[in-house]
This record gives sequence, structure tokens and C-alpha cells, in this order.
Amino acid sequence: AFVVRRRRRINGRWARAGAVLKELEEQCATPVEKVKEVADAMTKEMHAGLESEDGSMLKMLISFVDRLPTGDERGLFYALDLGGTNFRVLRVQLGGKEGRVVNQQCEEVSIPQDLMVGGSDELFDFIASALANFVASEDEDFHLPNGKQRELGFTFSFPVKQTSIASGTLIKWTKGFNVNGTVGKDVVGELTRALQRQGIDMQVTALVNDTVGTLAGGIYDDNDVVAAIILGTGTNAAYVERADAIKKWQGPLPNSGEMVINMEWGNFRSSYLPTTDYDHALDAESLNPGQQIYEKLISGMYLGEIVRRVLLRLAVEAALFGDNVPPQLEVPFVLQTPVMSAMHHDTSADLKVVGAKMQDFLGISNSSFKARKLVVQVCDIVAKRGARLAAAGIIGILKKLGCDRPNMKRTVIAMDGGLYEHYTIFRESLLATLKEVLGEEASASVLVIMANDGSGIGASLLAASHSQYLED
Ligand code: BGC
Ligand code: MG
Repeated sequence: AFVVRRRRRINGRWARAGAVLKELEEQCATPVEKVKEVADAMTKEMHAGLESEDGSMLKMLISFVDRLPTGDERGLFYALDLGGTNFRVLRVQLGGKEGRVVNQQCEEVSIPQDLMVGGSDELFDFIASALANFVASEDEDFHLPNGKQRELGFTFSFPVKQTSIASGTLIKWTKGFNVNGTVGKDVVGELTRALQRQGIDMQVTALVNDTVGTLAGGIYDDNDVVAAIILGTGTNAAYVERADAIKKWQGPLPNSGEMVINMEWGNFRSSYLPTTDYDHALDAESLNPGQQIYEKLISGMYLGEIVRRVLLRLAVEAALFGDNVPPQLEVPFVLQTPVMSAMHHDTSADLKVVGAKMQDFLGISNSSFKARKLVVQVCDIVAKRGARLAAAGIIGILKKLGCDRPNMKRTVIAMDGGLYEHYTIFRESLLATLKEVLGEEASASVLVIMANDGSGIGASLLAASHSQYLED
């Protein structure tokens, strides 16, 4: 009798785990019709956001970039890229059409966790001092003509209401940032004052979102680039819009007839989005509850955290990892997306990578093979939902541009971000979804190219084309 009862308990445990997984699978499902609904909702919100200032949860921010790099840009320019887990400083020597990028140097510094949630001056001082060190290392490969001031393109990857190409106020922080005293301030002013405190003589001539920088860098390399997407810690998109289609634009129409729009698509939401209780709890406990809902389903900062929440439920309700709930599993953000990705890509017969990662990051030893298989399934469901929803957003943009139909001209999307670059299953699922939804023929003219750190080069190109030394 004892043996029978024990077997039943074990069966009950796996049955419970199976039920939790089945529910997750159903709630995260993104069949083609759903992807299309999300894409249509995205297109609709794009129109609404262009219509009026508060017309949509999509801010559709005017970037003040109305001419994209031509290849003629020349000179020495700096760029500073703030927005993910690291920040980067870069200098490039641009040599015009013949020379292109003659020389470039880049340095990456990780931002101490406490600075991401501290005070504004502390953050900007840290950035400025790293930039000061970098400037001090400039060598003879780079030339600044006599009497000229160094110029900088500032890539700031947060929602900013631009007031010119080189100024704009922070609307809100996103991702892991929640710095005191910056919202509502001109971030170029904040940076410029920090540069002065460091004694650096440098002028900020362009303030750009990373999507806008990536678009500029992308077009420099390939004229058919129409949009840029970031799939990294956060997610967002920018694209080239017809200036006369931007109803809310009060200023004069630019000569080019075009304007780059920073969509801030991370803040998209829709009743069509497939969400679960895990998502709702993640949102409620986040730094920015109620905000960036689409981003929280898709981007690198959150995918691992969603998986952790599912595994915790499996541990509590189905004793997936033994009779006790592993304490580390209760710690928010212990399971980061690169670890999730490593487990998801484990092809070994006994899933030893999954076992090792669970040991190293969650303190779970001796996991059963059955449990490891379930972990991989959870990763699969969460990653594919994110990838397919990201594809839906891209399709929404293609629709807006009228590029979602067969026989279109070559249409290129510049992509950047570690999630897309490193998470192979995510990337392949996104690309497969584009094909599945657009159809073989239409998707054949749509190309997604990796624009590795395009935003840094892009920002320096925009600093060059908006240089204080140019007349136009
Ligand atoms: C920010 C965007 C940014 C994106 C990717 C989002 O959280 O709101 O401005 O482009 O992350 O870095
Ligand atoms: Mg970046």
C-alpha cells in the first residue's frame, strides 16, 4: 500500500507540473492570426501616435534627424552610448566618400549597479570621467584641426522629448535605470555640465536614441535601410517617416521631406498581447509598473526573469526540484537571459548544461532529467512568444511603410542588441515568423541585417552632419 501511495504522489507531482506547463503554453500561444492582430494594432497605434501628442501609448517621438548620413561626413568625432548594462565611448575618424571610417576606437565600461538607481549628478559624473580618460588616450591616428573643439554624438537610449537635434528632456527611465532627478531635465545639459566639471572641452552636437543611431549607421552602410530595431536589454524601433504624415509636427517641413521617428515601441500594449499571471506579477514588482508592457514580454532584461517565475511556481506547486523550494529561485533577476539561452540551446543527451546552470545560478543540484526537460520547455515557450511578438512589431512597421506585400523593392531592417545577436533560437524564431506571416514572396525582399554597434558610429555620423562648423 505504501508503494502504491508513493507512486501516486509522484505521478500527482508530474501531473501538476504538466498542467502548469500546459496552461503556460496556452496563455503564451501566438498563432499566425494572433501575430497579425498584434501587427495591425501596432500599425494603428503608429498612426495615432503621429496624429497628436498624447494620441497613443506609442510616443512616436520626433528625432529632429531629417537628413541621414550621406557618406560625405569628415573629421574626428566622439560618441557616447548610454542605455544598456554597459556604456561605451567611441571615437571615429571619418574620411568622406573615399575614406569612410578611417579609424575607430571604442571602450566599454560597465555601470555600477548603484549608479543606475542613484542620483543624476553621480551618474553623469561617472560617464564624464570615463570619457575624460578616453579622450586622454587619443593618439596620432586621429586628427582634430587646430582651433576646433571636439564634438560628440550622445546616444541616450531612453524616451526623450527632443527640442532640437542636440537637446531634449527625459520622459522616463526604463530598463534597470531609475536615477533620481533626471526626468524632465535636458540630458544634454546634464552631460555638458558633467563634462565641464571634468574639465573636458567638448560640444554635444547630436542627441540620439540608440534606434536612431542604428538607423543612421545602417543607412551609411546600406541605402535600403528603412528601419532600425533594438532587441537587447530593452527593445525599440525607429524608422524613416514622411514629414507630411506627422500631423502633430508644428515646425516647418524639412527639405528632405523626411523625419526619423523614434517609436518607443517598448511601451506598446494591446488586449491582443498574450500575457500570463507571471507577466502581471513581474510588471507589478518592476521599477516601472504599468509601463513598457511589450518590452517586458520581449526584451533581454525580462525573459530570464519570466522563466524564473514559472520555475518558482513549478517548485512550489509541483516540487519540481525536490521537497524544498530552492531559496535562490526566489531572488528576482537571478536567472538572466544569457543563462536561459545557454540552457535552451543545450543539445547534450542528458541536458548537462541545464544541470550545470541550475547548479551555478539557482543552487539546484541533482535535478532530475525530467525536470531539466521541463526547464527547457519553459525557456522555449517564453523565448518564442517574445520572438514572435517582436516579429509582429516589425510587420506592423512594414505595413505602415507599405512594404509588407509581394514584389516590393529591397527593404532592409538594421538590427542591434545582444538578445537578437546571441540568442539563436530567438533570432531564428523571429525570422521564421516574418516568413510565415508575410509569406514566402513578400518576405523575400525583406532583409534583417545585424548592425553591430551601429548606434555608436551612427551617433558620430549625426554629430558630424550636425557639426557646429558646418553651414547649411
Ligand atoms: C528605451 C528605448 C531604447 C530601448 C533599447 C527602451 O527601454 O525606452 O529608448 O531605444 O530600450 O535600448
Ligand atoms: Mg545598445
